Amino acid sequence: MLHSDMKTYSSTAGKERLRYITHCTLCNSYEHKPIISGDGFLFVKCNSCGLVFQNPQPGEIELRERYGGDYFRYEKDNEKNFFNLMLLGLRDIGFNKIASQLNGKKSFLDVGCATGMLIHHMKSNGWAEQGVEICRPSAIYGIRDKGVKIFIGTLEEACFEPESFNVIHCSHLIEHLTDPLRFFTEVFRILKPGGFFIVTTPNIDGFQARLFKEKWRSAIADHMYLFSRKTIEKLFHRTGFKVLKSKTWGGLAKGTAPAIVKGFADFLAKKMGIGDVMIYLTQKGPTVKLKEPSA
Ligand SMILES: [Zn+2]
Repeated sequence: MLHSDMKTYSSTAGKERLRYITHCTLCNSYEHKPIISGDGFLFVKCNSCGLVFQNPQPGEIELRERYGGDYFRYEKDNEKNFFNLMLLGLRDIGFNKIASQLNGKKSFLDVGCATGMLIHHMKSNGWAEQGVEICRPSAIYGIRDKGVKIFIGTLEEACFEPESFNVIHCSHLIEHLTDPLRFFTEVFRILKPGGFFIVTTPNIDGFQARLFKEKWRSAIADHMYLFSRKTIEKLFHRTGFKVLKSKTWGGLAKGTAPAIVKGFADFLAKKMGIGDVMIYLTQKGPTVKLKEPSA
C-alpha cells in the first residue's frame, strides 16, 4: 500500500527542555520501564497497563516549534498520498454508511488537517467543514489555496461550542500529543450526542514494530505516545467512546522484502490485526451523569 512507501517525518530531539512524567495518563501507575531508546529520546512502558510514551518529553509549547516550514514542505509534498490513504481508511471502516445515516447539514472536523485536502473533499460533498492545524504555513496554504476553514493552533485553543460536530477525524495526530487524555475529553465535549470519532495511529503491537524495535519507523522523536490496540481501546472507554469498528494495515515496509513476501505479509497483517497502522471508528456514548452526593 501507499503508506509503506512514505518516510515518516521527524525532528531531531534534544533542543527542548524536557519534563519527567511521573505517572501513566491512562491508569495512574507510577511504575514503568524503558523499552526503546532513540537518538536523544526514550520510550517507556507502563508496568500496569502497557501504555508506551516518551519519558522525559518536551512540553507542548516547545513541541510547537517543530511544526514550522520544514513540516509544511513535507505535508505539501505528500498531501495527495496522505489524502488517498485517509480515503482508503475511511472506506475500510465504512464511513459512507455512517454518513448516509446522518440527517440535515452534516459537520466534519479534521484535527491535524495539514493543508486541508480532506476537509476540502468533505466540503465538496456538502459537509460543513472545519480544520484545526498547529503548523501555521500548512493552515494558511489550506485556507488560501482551498478556501476551507482552518483554526490555527490546538484543538483546546479553538474552544468550539459544545456538541458542534457530527464527525471528528484525526489521522496520525494523537501520537504527537503531550496529553491524549485531555484531547479525547475535549473531542467528547464538542461532538454531538451519538457523533463519530475516527482515529488513525501507528500500532506498537504490529508486526513491523516487533520486527524493527528501535528502528521501527514510528519510534521517532516526534511521537510522544505509541498505542497498541489494548491501550487505545482503554483510552476510548475511559473517555466515553464506544468502539464500533477497527482495522489495521501494512505488513512490511517497501524495500525490506521482495514484493511477493511483502504482499503476503501485508495480507496476513491485515487479516490478523497486526498491521503497522490502525484505524478506529468510535461513537460518543451517552454522557454519564455524576450522582449528587447524598445528604
Ligand atoms: Zn498505565
